[in-house]
Amino acid sequence: MKLYEYEGKQLFSSFGIPVPHGKLATEPIKWDGKAVVKAQLLEGGRGKRGLVRITDDVYGTIVEMKRQGIGKFLVEEFVPHDREVYLSVMIDRDQRDPIVVASPEGGIDVESAKDVKVFKIPLERGVRPYDVVKIEKYLNVKGLGDVIKGLYRILVEAEAELVEINPLAITDKGPMALDSKVILEDNALFRHEDLLKSFNREYKQEPYVELEGDVGIIGNGAGLTMATMDMVKLLGGNPADFLDVGGGANREAVKGALLAIGKNPKVKKVVINIYGGITRCDEVALGIVEAMKEVRKPIFVRLVGTNEEEGRKILRDNGVKVYDQALQAIGDAIRL
Ligand code: GDP
Ligand code: MN
Repeated sequence: MKLYEYEGKQLFSSFGIPVPHGKLATEPIKWDGKAVVKAQLLEGGRGKRGLVRITDDVYGTIVEMKRQGIGKFLVEEFVPHDREVYLSVMIDRDQRDPIVVASPEGGIDVESAKDVKVFKIPLERGVRPYDVVKIEKYLNVKGLGDVIKGLYRILVEAEAELVEINPLAITDKGPMALDSKVILEDNALFRHEDLLKSFNREYKQEPYVELEGDVGIIGNGAGLTMATMDMVKLLGGNPADFLDVGGGANREAVKGALLAIGKNPKVKKVVINIYGGITRCDEVALGIVEAMKEVRKPIFVRLVGTNEEEGRKILRDNGVKVYDQALQAIGDAIRL
């Protein structure tokens, strides 16, 4: 899910990345002095399309942009600066670790920048002072510590795919993010309902057009979740919805997943397939039991992993069917 610039800047601000003072507007507003009026659209390239305007007449600029069909504006103080750089963090698809991408050529499309460098910062250790020094040297900018740590924390804590500042302005008072681009991981949104609420956005499971069945599926790991779907189909059932709670899933993740799946009216029964070495089965069981207070649908659980005996006992004590074999769990669910 892509965030609007103003939503991204809200995140930046709460994670210690400086942003210009600004105001969100849907109607023309009065403003003293020079300002930047920015159309709030999810597409980039607004600068080139005349949708970022530096002006002394905020009111008139909004009136004019509204005539072009724009409905939401971010009005910000004008920030004088003499340099713009590019800075982002994302997950490297091959290495599965976060990377910082930096370029001294800010404000342009990073794909067309000639000078770009990638800095790997593994999750096990996080951002260290020497990472900051290396990036600062490369960009020839000082005082980037808070910005880099903030970007990294947003990537990890909000489970983002990309967190980008383009441009990061270098001002007399230090670096300042003039733009934001944040893309949240769709598969992880159900774990961030509070964040979405703070943007007045609701988390809605995308409808899966091809899924017309009645079995809700929860698995840990994309591979196991997909395999569970296949098994449901193989045994003559029809999946309605599925969610991957990820490796090492804890109580909250499982609870969130079951609540999300349970809300889907198409789901009449739920199969939970958890198979893992490090996954704590007692934690998983407690998450299921907590969610069951709200989800009143039959649940069939295959649970294997650390503390599986404790986990199974918790489930049985709460009237949930537990299985060793996924096929048995699925078979019983389909027959119901
Ligand atoms: P995008 O084109 O959609 O990526 O929109 P940006 O927010 O990146 O704006 C395009 C350009 O407008 C930037 O590269 C900056 O040069 C300029 N710009 C954006 N915000 C400000 C600001 O607050 N102050 C100043 N001086 N320039 C800005
Ligand atoms: Mn930009």
